Amino acid sequence: MDWTEQVSFGGGAVDRMAAHRGEAEALLTRPGTRVLPMWRGRPLVEGADGAPRLVLLPADHALIDEASALRVLLGRPRGGAGSATEAVFAADLSGWHPESLVAGDGGPGRAGEDQRPPDVPGLPDDARFSDLRGMLASLGREDGSLAATARGILEWHRTHGFCATCGAPTLAAEGGWLRRCPSCGRQHFPRTDPVVIMLVTHGNSVLLGRSPHWPERMYSVLAGFMEPGETVADAVRREVEEEVGLRVGRVRMLASQPWPFPASLMIGCATEAAGRALALDPVEIEDALWLSREDLLDAFAGRHEKVAPPRKGAIAQHLLHMWLADGLD
Ligand SMILES: [Zn+2]
Repeated sequence: MDWTEQVSFGGGAVDRMAAHRGEAEALLTRPGTRVLPMWRGRPLVEGADGAPRLVLLPADHALIDEASALRVLLGRPRGGAGSATEAVFAADLSGWHPESLVAGDGGPGRAGEDQRPPDVPGLPDDARFSDLRGMLASLGREDGSLAATARGILEWHRTHGFCATCGAPTLAAEGGWLRRCPSCGRQHFPRTDPVVIMLVTHGNSVLLGRSPHWPERMYSVLAGFMEPGETVADAVRREVEEEVGLRVGRVRMLASQPWPFPASLMIGCATEAAGRALALDPVEIEDALWLSREDLLDAFAGRHEKVAPPRKGAIAQHLLHMWLADGLD
């Protein structure tokens, strides 16, 4: 089974049109081009809560006039209802200050509240800027891929306005996939930070842990950022040993998931622990425990006394489901 097809934001749903980035300005004037409005990392959506769809607007729509000047070429949905769309761009409305502001980003695992867009003509009645993590399992594949790309790339632009070499302001180019420094000539490309996320098993049990600031009862598989000079397997071994004091055997890579919160690529792995005795790093891990398959089934069903069901659509949930189904190979 190709697992990457199953995780939210998984690959293949969007043609990223990399060869057309140099002609982005001309593409913006085409009648079949659409623009996805983003506000502080949230895409504009419409439709029922359980089945949201992106709101894609013509490039000259009144709402798009409120965005900053940057337009990033996201690509073209490969098929289905989006096939009439020539290209989709992202536009950033984060500079807009609503009169009544929603609570904002609640952090990992917590969806923020929806924000109504500015009152301009030509928007669906139920249009709202909605938290992407809250829509992991409900956005369609094409929409999920477009929105994840938009969130990641706009956040990169927001935080990379100055040259890391000489400090001068940089300018976006290539349809938003490059920033150039006019002072020293250096080119800056969007970055992705790899994270290893690993299913650590021992016999009929799997290891779950929780960080100090997570929502109550939220447990997940261990994860951590890779460091320069490491292979994926090196990073898995180091993180598991640092966080819970376990030694592990062979490391297998199973799947990956773009995770633009703000710029990660989750690399899903599986490995077997040499033993069960845990020595927790109290800074990173508040608690860790071994769950049997039966315990994990209870957790997924919402019946476990200590562990809440993992969030739908995240790679951690897929890794755990595959382990339950014995389908890791
Ligand atoms: Zn520079």
